[in-house]
Amino acid sequence: MNAGSSLIDIQVIYRPNCNFLTAFIKEGKLNMFEQIKLPYAFDALEPHFDALTMETHYSKHHAAYTNNLNTLAQAAGIDSKPIEVILAHWKRKGEGKADAQGIRNNGGGFFNHNLFFAHLSKNGAHEPSGELADKINATFGSVDALKEQLSKLGAGQFGSGWAWLSTDIDGNLSVSSSPNQDNPILESEGKLFPILGIDVWEHAYYLKYKNLRADYIKAFFEVVDWNKVAENYAAAKETLAKLAK
Ligand code: MN
Repeated sequence: MNAGSSLIDIQVIYRPNCNFLTAFIKEGKLNMFEQIKLPYAFDALEPHFDALTMETHYSKHHAAYTNNLNTLAQAAGIDSKPIEVILAHWKRKGEGKADAQGIRNNGGGFFNHNLFFAHLSKNGAHEPSGELADKINATFGSVDALKEQLSKLGAGQFGSGWAWLSTDIDGNLSVSSSPNQDNPILESEGKLFPILGIDVWEHAYYLKYKNLRADYIKAFFEVVDWNKVAENYAAAKETLAKLAK
């Protein structure tokens, strides 16, 4: 009988979604960086983004980047720093150090996916408006021209990576692409901040779109919320000012 109850105890302790274990990990401060809570259900973006891809992407890929970052950042003693600061300082302070590549990959994965999931919505603004729309028109000619540039960058990124719309501290917009989980904060050492990001890793689209990355990018523009992009634009200038200090 004792053997039986021990087995039950072990099953409870190791159940993946056990609240007790989650609470224990939080108290042990192993979760300094937290995934955003999705403000929508996994199936909310159907038919453009399918539920299984959304669930796998958030609960497996993004969760793994976050957990790995927490472990590595704690070991490196940088777990109290904002992720933007870690990424902006990475080239100057991290390159060449043990575990630095892991912090780059998982720190980028953590940040990039928080940005990505937060600017998706079923009922978001389908087109930019206001100051952001004016700036897009002045910089790229039109919103469609911007979408075309981003689509080309995303489709043309060899292997895994991202396409970005970023701002500098003066509000000037630019587009770029990055390999792996790099992003404009890391690449510019804190001079650019992404306000829109298209994840073109195969894990973001392969279950539904197979090899048709361009179709997935079209679907992205059906579910990206331009109001959230405008919020990112407004907030980025303040963050860039902090990073410049
Ligand atoms: Mn991803």
